[in-house]
This record gives sequence, C-alpha cells and structure tokens, in this order.
Amino acid sequence: MKYDYLIVGAGLFGAVFAHEAAAKGKSVLVIDKRDHIGGNIYTENRMGINVHKYGAHIFHTSDKEVWEYVNRFAEFNNYINSPVAVYGDELYNLPFNMNTFSKMWGIKTPDEARAIIKEQADKEIERINSEKGTDVFSPDNLEEQALSLAGRDIYEKLVKGYTEKQWGRDCKELPAFIIKRLPMRFIFDNNYFNDRFQGIPVGGYTALVEKLLENVTVKTGVNYYDFVKLQDNLPVRPFESVEGDSFDNLVFTGMIDEFFGYKLGTLEYRSLRFETEDLPDTDNFQGNAVVNYTERQIPYTRIIEHKHFEFGQGKGTIITREYPADWKKGDEPYYPMNDEKNNQLYQSYKDLAKDFPEIIFGGRLGQYKYYNMDQIIREALDMSAKI
Ligand code: FAD
Repeated sequence: MKYDYLIVGAGLFGAVFAHEAAAKGKSVLVIDKRDHIGGNIYTENRMGINVHKYGAHIFHTSDKEVWEYVNRFAEFNNYINSPVAVYGDELYNLPFNMNTFSKMWGIKTPDEARAIIKEQADKEIERINSEKGTDVFSPDNLEEQALSLAGRDIYEKLVKGYTEKQWGRDCKELPAFIIKRLPMRFIFDNNYFNDRFQGIPVGGYTALVEKLLENVTVKTGVNYYDFVKLQDNLPVRPFESVEGDSFDNLVFTGMIDEFFGYKLGTLEYRSLRFETEDLPDTDNFQGNAVVNYTERQIPYTRIIEHKHFEFGQGKGTIITREYPADWKKGDEPYYPMNDEKNNQLYQSYKDLAKDFPEIIFGGRLGQYKYYNMDQIIREALDMSAKI
C-alpha cells in the first residue's frame, strides 16, 4: 500500500493528527508498539469501571476551540477535580484554599489566613537570612523557597514529603526554581484547576480515541523500529515498511533521542509505578477519586479510586496506588526532566531533525515537553492545519 502518512503512536497526538489528515482526504496508517490505542490516556473497563491505566487523567482547558473539538468525540461529565491530602490523622482539602487554612488553624476569614501565612513566611526568611549573614533573601533550594512562600505549617504538612517522594530527593537538595510559586486561594473553593472547562469523557478515554481513529487504519503491537526500513537506525528515503508499504510523510510521537539512536546522549525522565487492586466487595474505598499522601514514610504519593471519576455507584471498586520512580532506559518515560541540561540536549536533537523536514516530531516524547491533553490537541490541530 502507498500511504500519505505513517503516524507512529496511537496516543492523543497521533490520533488527533490522524483524524485531521484523514478528514483532508489523506491516506493514513497509525502504528503503536503497545497492544492498544490511546497511549497514556488509555482506559480499560473492568467491573463496569473505567480504569485509568497510566495514571489519573482529568481533562481541563480554557481553550474553547479545543473543548468544542473533544466534545465532538465524547460526551464529558461534570467531574471537578477536588483532591484531598492525608497527613497522619489529618485530612486537608487541596488546592491550598480557605478550607485548607480553616482546618489547619481553626480560622474563618481570608485576612486571618493571610496574616498567619505572612507571619510564618517572614519568620523563615528572617531565620534563613540570619543563618547566611545577609539581608537579601535568595533561596538556595526548594525548602527555602517553599518556606518563604507558605511558612512552616503548610510546608511541613503538605509540601515537603510529597515533593521529596515525587523527585526521590530531599527538598534541601532540590533546586528552588522547581517551585516558582505555591498557588493559594483565599476563597472556599476546592476545584483543583482554574480552567473554564473540565470533565471526564463518559465511557472513558479509549472510546474517545476510538472515535478519533474511526476512519483510519491502525495496527497495534507494531514497533516502528521493526516496521520501517532503517539504515544506521534512521529511516531510508523514500520511507518504506519492511513489508513494502510506502509513505510520503512520517509523524513520530515516540522518544526523539531513541529515534536518532541516542547518538547525542540520553534524555532523562521521571517514571511511575502503578499498583492496582480490584476490591469487588468494597463499594467506596476512600470517598474521593484522588487522595494524596503527603508524608514521606508512606511510599506512594496518591491513591486513585477510579469509579469516582464517573460518579460510579454499586458494588465493587478499583484503586491504584501511584509510586514515583527513577527512570532508566526501557522504563515508561512519564515526565520529561525539563532542566537546563536536558533542554539543551533536546535542542541538539531538534537541530538533527532539520535533516528530515518531511518528519513531524509531535507529542510529549517527540517534543520532550510535559503537555496536558488540551495542549497536545492544540499542537496536533495546529500542526495538522499545515497539511
Ligand atoms: P503518549 O500518550 O505517550 O502516546 C505516544 C504513543 O507512542 C504511545 O502509545 C507509545 O506506545 C507509542 N510509541 C512510542 N514509541 C513507539 C515506537 N517505537 N513504535 C510504535 N509506537 C511507539 N494531562 C491532562 O490534561 N490532565 C491530566 O490529569 C493528566 N494526568 C496525567 C497523569 C500522568 C501520570 C501522566 C504521565 C500524564 C498526565 N497528563 C495529563 C498528560 C497526558 O497524558 C498527555 O498530555 C498525553 O497523553 C500525551 O499524548 P501523546 O500522544 O503525546 O503521548
């Protein structure tokens, strides 16, 4: 077969791009090395519950065009993400808002909350400055930065342990720039996101991606590196599969460093490990979809109870414990480590990619950037608009 496009990756980027290309009359083949479509937004239906297999995904956006676009492929429910944080025996609402402050200090008004945070933050700044023998506050690490923004109580109970688990390092060893600001709301509002539109696709994300790929040929369980004719790890032109299919263009949503055989070095990521438990005899395990565990001694960062994303009723529930993990080659690369060193390396790969103007590197792995789903759709729509 002769195709206009070979799209590597049936994740959200690949699916939106494929849909748009097909809508413009292009012939498209999508391949994915996993045995399913959807990439990381894949949901698997078990016990009547849509399980977010690669981590909890809540759709939120302020981009009206993107919101209207996804609503063409799925009906969204009115789920609002309102996580709860557990610290010892104490429970706090997130994000930091008047419910959190009122629980922490027994206060009622925004002025009282502001005064306590300011008093605690000023005290920490004074202490840090005096230890360093300076009058000008300049945080040397994440701990100093967070203490100067939120004070001791919020830092100790809600920031420290969680952040240390996420990064696998002590807050004193993490750079200050990771936390530029700690968003706080001085209203009673537990909605985690500030975006105008939010929800979960009724019936799960996989159904949404299926709809996007309705008129497209998809092959799962197919790895690009086995599928395409390569020489020195790079695709030979004109692009051809080992089976003799030919392609005018390539859209690649896998890892850009792997594409070039890691010849300039390896980009780094943080990974995650998921431990999922089916609880057929439990109706309601934790009363909320997302519960964060902010103490460092508890090895997981959060427990997801999937049925609550879709207001599930009835018997049985499924929970997933999420453990942050170091990443090594071969592990699932969840979060790009966008520090200076890695961004520079990515830039060098991007320069190499200029030798292949007929290849589009897209998505979170192709562009080495943490994108939310709405940003991925925006990118895929903008790039496919040039077809
Ligand atoms: P992916 O979904 O990774 O798709 C890439 C696909 O390419 C994969 O299926 C992979 O198997 C395939 N592939 C790679 N290499 C090859 C190869 N060699 N051959 C064949 N196929 C290959 N966003 C939100 O908006 N809200 C959230 O709440 C949210 N939560 C998240 C939670 C977690 C834990 C993570 C990690 C991300 C979260 N995101 C969230 C971000 C969201 O997952 C991404 O925006 C989106 O999934 C990226 O889509 P993508 O197509 O770029 O990548």
